Amino acid sequence: MTLVFMRFISTGKKMLICVNYLAYVNMLFFWISNSCIKIMLRKDSINVIVIGAGVIGLSTAVNLQLKEYRVTILANHFPGDPSNIEYTSPFAGAIWQSLTTGDKRQQQFDRDTFKLFWKLANGKANETGIMVIPAYNYYSNPSKSEKEPWFKDFVPTFRVLGKDDELPSGSTFGVHYTTVAVNPGIYLKWLFSQFITMGGQYKRVTLSHIFDAMDTSVDIVVNCSGMHAKTLGGVEDKTVVPTRGQNVIVHAPHIRKTVSFMSHGYVIPRSDGTVILGTTHEEYNMDTTVNPTSAEKVLELARTICPELTKKKDGTEIKLNIVGYITGIRPVRKGGPRVENEIMVSPSGKKIVVTHNYGHGAFGYISGWGSGIYATNLVEKSFAQLQKEKQDVISLFSRL
Ligand SMILES: Cc1cc2nc3c(=O)[nH]c(=O)nc-3n(C[C@H](O)[C@H](O)[C@H](O)COP(=O)(O)OP(=O)(O)OC[C@H]3O[C@@H](n4cnc5c(N)ncnc54)[C@H](O)[C@@H]3O)c2cc1C
Repeated sequence: MTLVFMRFISTGKKMLICVNYLAYVNMLFFWISNSCIKIMLRKDSINVIVIGAGVIGLSTAVNLQLKEYRVTILANHFPGDPSNIEYTSPFAGAIWQSLTTGDKRQQQFDRDTFKLFWKLANGKANETGIMVIPAYNYYSNPSKSEKEPWFKDFVPTFRVLGKDDELPSGSTFGVHYTTVAVNPGIYLKWLFSQFITMGGQYKRVTLSHIFDAMDTSVDIVVNCSGMHAKTLGGVEDKTVVPTRGQNVIVHAPHIRKTVSFMSHGYVIPRSDGTVILGTTHEEYNMDTTVNPTSAEKVLELARTICPELTKKKDGTEIKLNIVGYITGIRPVRKGGPRVENEIMVSPSGKKIVVTHNYGHGAFGYISGWGSGIYATNLVEKSFAQLQKEKQDVISLFSRL
């Protein structure tokens, strides 16, 4: 090659041919090496582990599959399991009612989730357990952002309640809009079945340390461990505050609206004719037994904010048919959910990107799908980083 170069160097024209030839060889080399890199790092060859099969883990896992990653869920609890206080998602209300005010990222989570739920409620209501219902939010002392909620322009039928609308005693302001209510048992099973249909793998395990999820074949770990982020080794987030909620379930198929007296309690109908009456907020209380005093307070508030529960239009009484109680633990996190990347080095010495997605408190359903999209974008970033690091190694050896 060098000899050929020396002979050609005597005339300008021949030298040009030589340079072009070399450039061509170089281009060919880079094309081959780039193709190799692409083959090596096809997304479906990237092993992503998602810790958790609650609404956050499942939403994230499905979003990752939509971007063509190969996903395995590791969890201790799965949809359809018997009730267990360690697994929050089956216990939720669950109503879409954005609780955020000025936090733009949280607004994005909530908006993206509403969009999905709205489409599912209007196209696959039975399969997904999501239904469209009218919502009434009441306030005793509303802030400016509560009077003009950020979501007022995209939820249908939004209006401030006026003189002709009745406000429950204790409230001074109210808004109406149309929203969606989710039946968690149905929705979780549906989401899980979408995951399986797309080729997702899963394994029931209890991890004591996040390293337990990192065998040598794993490239990325997504941590959706909910309240267990407080105790999971390697994470141990002290800002997670497990917060108990105790609700009452009644059978009242005539209630087809959701009512909330903000910060006090709510009435949430489900597609199966039951209605969830809530709630309590008890930090660090993991008690599974029903507290009758709290239950009575919840019932009293529900009767006040939704008189139709116990009274027909003509004034005749309806006896409340209590069919059960819920005691669940919200994965509250001071400062809001943790949705961010962290680089860890596994026990085998491999650099692993960990994408955290936990701490959604009382709004895992309100924001879960959007949070899953956001976490998936973080995984995409870490994938690009992995790709670059591997490319750097290949380039290094190709130069030696
Ligand atoms: C009474 C009540 C009412 C609610 N109402 C609403 C509502 O109306 N709207 C709303 O949006 N939200 C509501 N919420 C909140 C909502 O339920 C939560 O935000 C949501 O369920 C949290 O989901 P998650 O996936 O983070 O956690 P979880 O559902 O608890 O899932 C955690 C998963 O991680 C796994 N896991 C954790 N650690 C480990 C480990 N070490 N090893 C193996 N597996 C592990 C678990 O097995 C599980 O699969 C309510 C909550 C309660 C309690």
